Amino acid sequence: MEEGFMIAENLQQVKDTLKPGVSLVAVSKFHPVEAIREAYDAGQRVFAESHVQELVAKQPVLPDDIEWHFIGHLQTNKVKYMAPFVSLIHSMDSVKLMKEIDKQGQKCGRVIDVLLQIHVAAEETKFGFTPEEVVEMLSTGEWRTMSHVRIVGLMAMATNTDDEARIGREFESVAQLFDVLKNHFFVDEPAFKELSMGMSGDYLIAQEHGSTMVRVGSKIFGERNYNL
Ligand SMILES: *Cc1c(COP(=O)(O)O)cnc(C)c1O
Repeated sequence: MEEGFMIAENLQQVKDTLKPGVSLVAVSKFHPVEAIREAYDAGQRVFAESHVQELVAKQPVLPDDIEWHFIGHLQTNKVKYMAPFVSLIHSMDSVKLMKEIDKQGQKCGRVIDVLLQIHVAAEETKFGFTPEEVVEMLSTGEWRTMSHVRIVGLMAMATNTDDEARIGREFESVAQLFDVLKNHFFVDEPAFKELSMGMSGDYLIAQEHGSTMVRVGSKIFGERNYNL
């Protein structure tokens, strides 16, 4: 009961700090369905998970009008499990994966929206396209032939650091890349409009650099329970 109250309150606090036009994706990974329901009852409809198994376990037991996003590293052999219902995949990081999403979208009779994950942070994850790779990939034009997957923007994570100037520079470089890609490849595609940047620790910085979508977990739900 008390925890539920906290979730509604935390959610409101985050919403109160968002700029107009910035949408909130509630990152519910490693939190139980009860916690998601609390946020749902407080009005939140967009949730994101980063593990396929967890996503497919939660989706059927929660309300149908939830928009499920996927934000974790996605292996091609797992796309089929989420293809029937996922509404946005933030972590599209290879042509091979894009082909598989297209194939599974076709099987379900859906067009699946994706973001190109851009690698800008110094560290850890090796996932995502570098700016050079993404330009090269889009230049081939092969993606235009894939009619069951639609690129609607970019996703990026900044380096995990206290250096806010550095975080700001990284987000700014992704925002500039977004503009370049928009002008070169997506001029006639209004759907290409999302910039998914910012987590609990840096979403305030991200929205100063053009983020349209922030992915906030711990600031809403508290610490994650990895034994879930
Ligand atoms: C877990 C995760 C988040 C949310 O992180 P918090 O710090 O809990 O807000 C956002 N984006 C991605 C890609 C994640 O994996």
